[in-house]
Amino acid sequence: MTSVALKSITKSWGSTHAVQEIDFSVRSGDFTVLLGPSGCGKSTTLRLIAGLDQPSAGSIHIGERDVTRLSPSQRRIAMVFQAYALFPHLSVRENILFGLRVRKEPSQHFEARLKRVSELLGLAHLLDRRPGQLSGGQQQRVALGRAIIAETPLCLMDEPLSNLDAQLRQEMRREIRALQQQLGITMIYVTHDQTEAMSMADQVILLRNGRIEQNAPPAELYAQPASEFAARFIGTPPMNILPLEPTAAGLAIAGAHDVAVLPGRGGEALHLGLRPEHIRLSAHGAPAVIQTVEYFGADTIVGACIGNAPLLVRVPGQLSLRAGDAIRLQWDEAQQYFFDPHSGLRRHVDGCGQHTPSSASQFNPIKEKSCAESC
Ligand code: ADP
Repeated sequence: MTSVALKSITKSWGSTHAVQEIDFSVRSGDFTVLLGPSGCGKSTTLRLIAGLDQPSAGSIHIGERDVTRLSPSQRRIAMVFQAYALFPHLSVRENILFGLRVRKEPSQHFEARLKRVSELLGLAHLLDRRPGQLSGGQQQRVALGRAIIAETPLCLMDEPLSNLDAQLRQEMRREIRALQQQLGITMIYVTHDQTEAMSMADQVILLRNGRIEQNAPPAELYAQPASEFAARFIGTPPMNILPLEPTAAGLAIAGAHDVAVLPGRGGEALHLGLRPEHIRLSAHGAPAVIQTVEYFGADTIVGACIGNAPLLVRVPGQLSLRAGDAIRLQWDEAQQYFFDPHSGLRRHVDGCGQHTPSSASQFNPIKEKSCAESC
């Protein structure tokens, strides 16, 4: 079992800071995902842990060892990349055994290790084939086999599923997670796909512009996002962000001043965050006009406007409503999030007020019309 710790890691390429002041630790046997948009520093972080690049500042520890200046081979790490990099002229057997042969490990154990790994990955009947005779998923399994057979306690994966189709990705996600748990491997896994991160990880490190935006287990990242960026990165569709502005009645959704989200509160503007799955259609609530209706089978995503603010609502099943229809929307106060519009950081606002108009009589068809035009 192996833990990993990065302490104040910075990597610069000339004046470009790929990652800056990165600090995190990974517990032994945990599945940690480095998540974030393209260019945020995920691969750089992984390459630094692997020893493929040297940090400009900071130190890296694997278990008790400071490995910052050690070569990749001295770090005892297995790696799987997006490109499987299988040798086309070698059989599946030889591809899996390749690393062991290069490292001149004792060959008397090869067959037993190969048997175990190939059975684990469902490759036992394919050992004599060449990579060209395998499907994409099977090729990816060979790449996994090559990593697993090394029996290193730490495994790094960089977008290993990007080349697979959606269904296969889902299968492989489950397989990788099950294998990691079964073998007790410490895993650090790079992806830009939040679904992958949420479904596989014990711990998610969300990166943005080379810095850590939030480091938390998936459930906490979803329920307690530290910032607007984190809130919108997790969840499909992403969290709705509705600008609030001061009105005589309190802070209200822009363009819908009869919908006082924080009654009696004045002062600075805030952003209101609402997850699509937390909003429901109801007889009472904020007046809205439907813009779009997308049916997905199990649920429907309704695009609507409250005042000037567009938002998406996830409704179970199918709807008989259409674009242009007037509806009312409700949500629970406890499921409102507030963000500072300047820093983007989450704000804890006490005494959240009502979000619904004080009475249905405030329903204003003229406002609804202007909403439809402006959104
Ligand atoms: P991600 O994996 O999140 O897409 P990377 O870690 O590959 O991001 O890159 C982070 C930043 O560092 C990017 O701006 C990228 O252009 C830059 N970068 C990465 N590798 C190099 C390199 N070898 N030379 C110069 N800039 C690099």
